Amino acid sequence: MRAMAFSQPGGVEVLQLMDLPRPNLADDEVLVEVKACALNHLDLWVRRGLPTPIPMPHIGGCEVAGLVAEVGPRVQGISPGQRVLISPGQSCLVCDWCSQGLDSCCEQYRIHGYQTQGGFAEYTKARAVDLLPISEAWSFVEWAAVPLTFVTAWNMLHDKARVQPNDTVVVFGASSGVGVAAIQIAKLAGARVFAVAGSEAKLRQAETLGADVLLNYQTQEIAKEVRAHTQGRGADIVVEHVGAALWPQALRCLGKNGRLVTCGATTGSKVDIDLRFFFTQQHAILGAYMGSRHALRQCLRLIEQRRMRPVIDSVFPLEQLPEAQKRMEDRAMFGKIVVTP
Ligand SMILES: [Zn+2]
Repeated sequence: MRAMAFSQPGGVEVLQLMDLPRPNLADDEVLVEVKACALNHLDLWVRRGLPTPIPMPHIGGCEVAGLVAEVGPRVQGISPGQRVLISPGQSCLVCDWCSQGLDSCCEQYRIHGYQTQGGFAEYTKARAVDLLPISEAWSFVEWAAVPLTFVTAWNMLHDKARVQPNDTVVVFGASSGVGVAAIQIAKLAGARVFAVAGSEAKLRQAETLGADVLLNYQTQEIAKEVRAHTQGRGADIVVEHVGAALWPQALRCLGKNGRLVTCGATTGSKVDIDLRFFFTQQHAILGAYMGSRHALRQCLRLIEQRRMRPVIDSVFPLEQLPEAQKRMEDRAMFGKIVVTP
């Protein structure tokens, strides 16, 4: 099968079109013909090299939508030709963490296309339990733009930060996959949403997703604007994944009892906290990594009902994965970049 893979870590130039064998199926696994696979920042970290051991040559790609091509002998209830999404987060399903819905704390937790071979190929495989049927309400490209970022944003806002109606939620990195999901999830929860991005064009797009207040970090002092729009109270929740570059601004947005929830460190991972403000203002800083299967199902239901929607930036043919990843590295996108084999 055709796959865009790499044999050693590095820049986009290490991605090569390779002819690799189709995955062999275990008894409980399913072969999926990839119709679309969305990009994530994680793909870039993995390609540049992480300490975690990964299969080589490595096929990235965490968010796969496609058709069931073949099923292992012990698989029931799934048949060839069925439209499916692969859950990007895969856990043991039985340990104490999994039983609490804290799937991503599971010792066996792995992300499809990171610790396994992923979807930048004609075929990929997963356990039958990690497949989620999808309807024709959205195209394969649109469905592929959903699972990882929506489940993460849901975990951040609902499971971690406990969003309430009338909360003020500031979404940094509003144009990213997590950003476009967070704006919609927060709006649906009844919150007032501030979108923070680096260009007017991106902010106009954030507005179409329901953002109430648009803030440009290139031209505005974000924390000051948030105070001005909240009668000096500040934000209840800040959704963050930009990391070091905007961290001081993000923290200063928080009002009393405010929660900052983060799932990334795109611009750097070392940040400062002034503990005096942290405890006197009773702030909370929460980390989120992926989310639960329940959260993913919630997101898929709401998207199926068109109460939220996938946001597609661009679609590239598989062979142009290097160009697609470059677009993500340059932060030129609004929403998801997707490749199709
Ligand atoms: Zn487990």
